[in-house]
Formats: sequence, structure tokens, C-alpha cells
Amino acid sequence: MQIGTCKSKPGKLTNGELPLCKYKNLYLKIPIFIAEGEAPGKTIFISAGTHGDEVNGIEILYHFMYALNLHKLVGTIIFLPLTNPWGFKENSRYIPFDNRDLNRSFDKKGSSISYKIADSLMKNVIEKCDFGIDLHDGRTNVLLPHPRIFKKDESEFMRELSHVFGTEIILEREGESGMLAVESFKRYKIPVLTIEVGGAKVIRNDFRNQAVGGLKNILIYTNMLNGILSLPVKQFILEQREGYISPTKGILYLEVKLGDAVKKNQVIARIHNPISNKKFIVRSRNPGVVFSIRREAIINKKESILSILHFKISKRKELIPVQAKMLINRTKPEEIITRPTIILDNILSLLGLSYKFIDESLRASFEKIDEYFSLRKSKH
Ligand SMILES: [Zn+2]
Repeated sequence: MQIGTCKSKPGKLTNGELPLCKYKNLYLKIPIFIAEGEAPGKTIFISAGTHGDEVNGIEILYHFMYALNLHKLVGTIIFLPLTNPWGFKENSRYIPFDNRDLNRSFDKKGSSISYKIADSLMKNVIEKCDFGIDLHDGRTNVLLPHPRIFKKDESEFMRELSHVFGTEIILEREGESGMLAVESFKRYKIPVLTIEVGGAKVIRNDFRNQAVGGLKNILIYTNMLNGILSLPVKQFILEQREGYISPTKGILYLEVKLGDAVKKNQVIARIHNPISNKKFIVRSRNPGVVFSIRREAIINKKESILSILHFKISKRKELIPVQAKMLINRTKPEEIITRPTIILDNILSLLGLSYKFIDESLRASFEKIDEYFSLRKSKH
């Protein structure tokens, strides 16, 4: 396979440049690597840096790429570590030539340079793949690692991949026009899984390692690597996290950390407006777990402080995530290693509930969901 100046070789990782399109007198190029296994198989891509100010995906991609054992890889992986190097240079989310969001520019008609970049990525790389993974992070807020799936146009296979990535949380939401994951499936039926890890221009090694493990899980599940899947015992499909925004411009003092369990009415943040010298207190509206959190201390009115994955106790005394479904992974000892959960443990210890309690109550109520998720081998 050759893409741009990068020619693949069996058992080797090769690299080169991919010229995408012309802008004025300049050829816009991005770095490309191809890892070809010794045995033939599927072709997939892993991309990052579509938003030039999101650094976590780039580092996850490089780390994963160099950790791959190419003698054991079945098939080919095309790596695009930085699809928006122009934004990265300017520390910007957007393509600086027209100030558009590249991840809203796929399958769009028009003369905008971002549309041309997106179109060229689609034709040169995405079209050639069986599926892909697109890595992102949370910009101003640090996010707990999770995949995102879309309510419409999303394939069953994509849903399976989102579980297999192995985080405790999967976010399901409406897709937007021009997103890579939305348009690649709509136009070519090529599933692209969007993954969000960390953010706020900081790298968290624990999150990076978790994401690298998740990518490895995906290769195992799709028969591109031999191995055993590592999954948490329980996973949540979350439709909406509850956001908390600042009531004022001010200086933010956070009273909780990412992943912390919080009680109802617990103080989660204090904001000091140094102009009026007024102090504001923000309290949690429900018990839950901190899902994303701001890092910068200066905050504007209506900017996001944090978001919380909320839980409540139902009438039947079950602990249920608010606006979310919970999955209990089918245990197949020969195929998966189950990991204990962190989020669930945090909330259980806060509410003084035991695993026994939750296991008994959940076993009955989530039996149907358990049936839904079976680790059958992919048809793709
Ligand atoms: Zn992004």
C-alpha cells in the first residue's frame, strides 16, 4: 500500500507525508505512518489532532504505535497522528486558513479549504479502511476517558467497539453534520469510533495508558491481535451528563477532583468575583461522580466548571445512574479479564452500599441488558 510518500512493507512501520490539497502556493501535508502486519487482514486507521489544541490523542496514538508488535499484527493500521498541524502550530482548535472546525467539515460542498482537507482525508485514507478510530480530548475541561457513539447512523459494530474499548462510561449523543464519525458511516458505511480522553492541554499518563489498553482491546476483538480482552465489570451508557456552569466571572476554587463521588448538596466549587468581592458556592444537585472538570482558575460567566454523572436510588432500592443505562459484562473467562470498577466503587462507598447489595439488585433488573451485550466475534 502507498499513501502519499508512505509505502508500507510487511512486518514494518513506515512513515512519510500525505499531501492533502493546495492552498495558495502551498501544498498542505500531514504526517502519516503505516504499520503493516506480517499476515494480511483488515485495514484500519487511527487519527488524532483534528482539533489542533487537543494533545492527548496525539500522544496516545504515538505511544500505541511504538508499542505495537508488528510480527503479531494481522492486517494494516494507517496512523494519522496530527490531521491539523496548522492548528497545532497556533494552539487552535480550528483550521487557521478559514477558521473552520475540521470535524464539522466532512462531506460538505463548497470552496472552503477545510472542506477540501476533509474530502482529501476521506478519499486518501478513510475510504480505504474497514473501520477507524478518531482520538479527541476535552479542550478546557479534563474528561474521564470514554468513547462516543451517535444515536443515528451508528452501526451495531460501532456499539460493540465502544464497549470493547473498555471504559466504565460510554457517551451516547446526537451526532452533528460534518463530523468524521457521522459522515463516514452515512456515506461509506465505514464505522469510525470517536474517543475522548483527558483535556485542558495537560497529559495524564494514567489516562494515556488506559486508552492504549483500550485500543489493544479493539485489535483483539477484531482479530487483528491475539490476546485477552480486559473489561470493567460494569459499564454505563450515558446520554447526558449534568453540567455546572459559573454564575459569574471570577476565580474558581474546585472542591472536588475528577472521578470523585459527591453527595447531594455537597459543595463542589467556590467562585470569587474579585471586582464585586462576592463569593458564590456551587452545590451538587444529586449524588454522582465527577465526569469532567475545569483546570483553569479564571472562569467566565456561563463557562463550564465541571459535569457530573448522577446516580439515584430507586424505589426498589437499586442504585441507578440518572439518564443512563448500565451494562453488566457477560463473563466468559476464556475471552475476558474483568477489572473492578472505579466509578462504581466510589459511589458505592459514598452511599455506604456494598457490592453484594448492588449485585443482587442489578442481576434481576439488568438481565435483559446483559443479554444484549454478548461478546460474539465481529462479522466485519
Ligand atoms: Zn476534538
